[in-house]
Amino acid sequence: MVSRREFLKSSVILPASAAVAARRRGPAPIRVAVIGAGAFGGWTALHLRRAGAEVTLVDAWGPGNARASSGGETRVIRTIYGPTRKYVEMAARALTLWREWDRNGSEQFYRRTGVLWMMTSADDSYARQSLPFLRDLKLEYEEMDAAAGAKRWPQISFDSVTKVYLEHEGGYLLARHACDAVARELVRIGGTYRQVAVTSVRSDGQRPEIGLSDGTSLRADRYVFACGPWLGRIFPDVIGSRVQSTRQEVIYFGTPAGDDRFIEPRLPVWVEAGDRFIYGIPGNLHRGFKVADDGRGPAFDPTDGDRTPSPDLERALRAFLTRRFPALTEAPVLGAEVCQYENSPDGHFIIDRHPAMPDVWIAGGGSGHGYKMGPALGELLARQVREDGSPDPFFALARFVARG
Ligand SMILES: Cc1cc2nc3c(=O)[nH]c(=O)nc-3n(C[C@H](O)[C@H](O)[C@H](O)COP(=O)(O)OP(=O)(O)OC[C@H]3O[C@@H](n4cnc5c(N)ncnc54)[C@H](O)[C@@H]3O)c2cc1C
Repeated sequence: MVSRREFLKSSVILPASAAVAARRRGPAPIRVAVIGAGAFGGWTALHLRRAGAEVTLVDAWGPGNARASSGGETRVIRTIYGPTRKYVEMAARALTLWREWDRNGSEQFYRRTGVLWMMTSADDSYARQSLPFLRDLKLEYEEMDAAAGAKRWPQISFDSVTKVYLEHEGGYLLARHACDAVARELVRIGGTYRQVAVTSVRSDGQRPEIGLSDGTSLRADRYVFACGPWLGRIFPDVIGSRVQSTRQEVIYFGTPAGDDRFIEPRLPVWVEAGDRFIYGIPGNLHRGFKVADDGRGPAFDPTDGDRTPSPDLERALRAFLTRRFPALTEAPVLGAEVCQYENSPDGHFIIDRHPAMPDVWIAGGGSGHGYKMGPALGELLARQVREDGSPDPFFALARFVARG
């Protein structure tokens, strides 16, 4: 039996030794809940965990699911970004991180095909304005005229093309597969993934209360909401119509048997940029020749919207193929994806704190170009969340408030 004296002695000693142990361990890791396992949320969660945070990632339907904007088969990665140096730098950092993933992991997601820009208007400034940034960042590219392009890629008709650029580092990414792999990596290094939906976000004035579809609530020190096209529903006041979903379709056409002219390495990812912005991805892990029009479609409901492809689009894209890739005029349709862009008013991302809940961060507004940036955006946001940092004004919500 322990005497009263021994008990008192131990009760004095124990807390002191616990305090020493706690000092040795350092401060407890912050607990972060990330809602949304698409390109933005998945990578943010992974960077947070790698930096030592206790991370729970949740998603209503799964990483890279068929409703998510990140849920397509492939996405383009490019570094030509008009006059916006910030995006060129972000894309360059993303390229480094995608390469790092491919080097270290068992699955590879980046296909370096190059990106061929066919400018069809006299004004080629969108590409030209990026070139000084590419040079600074040592991103290789070539410039040529249409005749040189036609000689190098005889499978393309360069009619009406005014100028050609080839960026060497660009290519495509295996989009939905990478989301799934990022979530699995998070779990492998000690994070948690849960398939559950956030149904309510309330603030008691002190701490956010996050309700879940299983009737429980989510508790953490900080929260990151990366819910893509659903952000406006979760935060009707702060985001609301500032993220608008538009219906976007891609079609996979079938190339002739044994013909390697329409896959990498003989064909890079390509873009026709002029009055319209039409782009394509060769190969797509053998799914076919992907073609899409970047023009914004009608409003679309990401949860219940009808994802049956529209025959009008097939007609329009076939007319395009006849003009630009004549050998594919009769190409059969092998498949299609109906997805949505989650557009911000100015096409720039939104990365900011919730104005009334400082522990809640919001990331979204990918606006048709967010996927490639996932690793770099996640790295940036993870740092801000951990360090309680200030949002970059370029991505901050205040830019909309200032404009009214
Ligand atoms: C057809 C098409 C082509 C594109 N092409 C390119 C391209 O070539 N290059 C490029 O860089 N980008 C491209 N984009 C854009 C890019 O795909 C998106 O900007 C990016 O994937 C957005 O990622 P996200 O993580 O913000 O959103 P999402 O991928 O939509 O992820 C949001 C996640 O949140 C989850 N979620 C939502 N609500 C809740 C809730 N209440 N509770 C729990 N989970 C929830 C969803 O299930 C989803 O998984 C394209 C987009 C489309 C549609």
